[in-house]
Amino acid sequence: MHNDKALRGELRHVNIPIFVPHRGCPHTCVFCDQRRISGESDPQTPLKAAKTVEDSLSTLRGDCETEIAFFGGSFTAIPESEMVAYLEAVKPYLKSGRIQGIRLSTRPDAINDHVLDILERYGVTAIELGVQSMDAGVLEQSGRGHTPRDVEMACQKIGQRGIKLGIQTMVGLPGDSLDIALTTARRVISLKPQMVRIYPVLVLKGTLLERMYHQGHYAPLSLEEAVHWCAQILPLYEEAGITVLRLGLHDSETLGASVTAGPYHPAFGELVASEIFRQKIARKLVDMEVKAHEHILIRTSPHLVSKIIGQKRSNLRALQNQFGLKAIKVLGDLTKEDFSVERCSEA
Ligand code: SF4
Repeated sequence: MHNDKALRGELRHVNIPIFVPHRGCPHTCVFCDQRRISGESDPQTPLKAAKTVEDSLSTLRGDCETEIAFFGGSFTAIPESEMVAYLEAVKPYLKSGRIQGIRLSTRPDAINDHVLDILERYGVTAIELGVQSMDAGVLEQSGRGHTPRDVEMACQKIGQRGIKLGIQTMVGLPGDSLDIALTTARRVISLKPQMVRIYPVLVLKGTLLERMYHQGHYAPLSLEEAVHWCAQILPLYEEAGITVLRLGLHDSETLGASVTAGPYHPAFGELVASEIFRQKIARKLVDMEVKAHEHILIRTSPHLVSKIIGQKRSNLRALQNQFGLKAIKVLGDLTKEDFSVERCSEA
């Protein structure tokens, strides 16, 4: 019953997150500061993981599709016995049908046939790969320790098992550029993931990137640049039918306190959505050959109004300046998730 309803999109999706750090990780990703990002410093154990699941399930009301999400970056790179202990700890919940899936995040070079055999045996339903970039130079300068080829191999193997594939990318890593970021997005699309996450790089306290930043060897993207890049990347994924699960890190007090520099904004995704609307409206205004001092009316659905107006009316101001318009009025009177642009005698 759960599955039938889920197929019709009627079930609320709930992830029970379990943070499993990769203690003793041999890699030196310049941006990495796991504990600060997760906001958790207590050591994790399989027993604690099972308790987290039990506690979360006891608070859930109504029908929902629930998944356990092992995250932290490299679930399959931790010692195998530890990985199996976590999967064993949550196995009863999947077996009894109290949860419907297990997802995890890991490194591309920590995926191989042996690992996938184990994950398949324990019913893992989705794997998210920390790909970050598909450019060899960017990966090298960022200390990732894997290549684009590792990514392609891992994606192919995951796809062959019928496990859902997610890909996490970062924009603004050392050596990155808008062209490289767009090429990365196109190469990611060719790997056919079902979902992606896009994170603009933030300089976090205590990371190698922070040192590079202070030494003048790294300059983060400005907020404006990060929004501009992502506003070009996001439509590529949408056109390819790939779900963008996340744009920007989850905001939290811990994260806010640990950001030294970079395009940090608590509503980054909203800014990108607004920028995409601004670009679309600008294109329509060009097509309409509007002239200076005209009045323009934009009609849309109520819940798109704020995105179209932009934070602090930034979109309306930018469009007014770009086209020399007298005024722009936005009405939220459409029922569909769309917008129209028309001339009016007075706005
Ligand atoms: S992000 Fe890089 S350095 Fe950090 S835990 Fe993952 S692999 Fe290791």
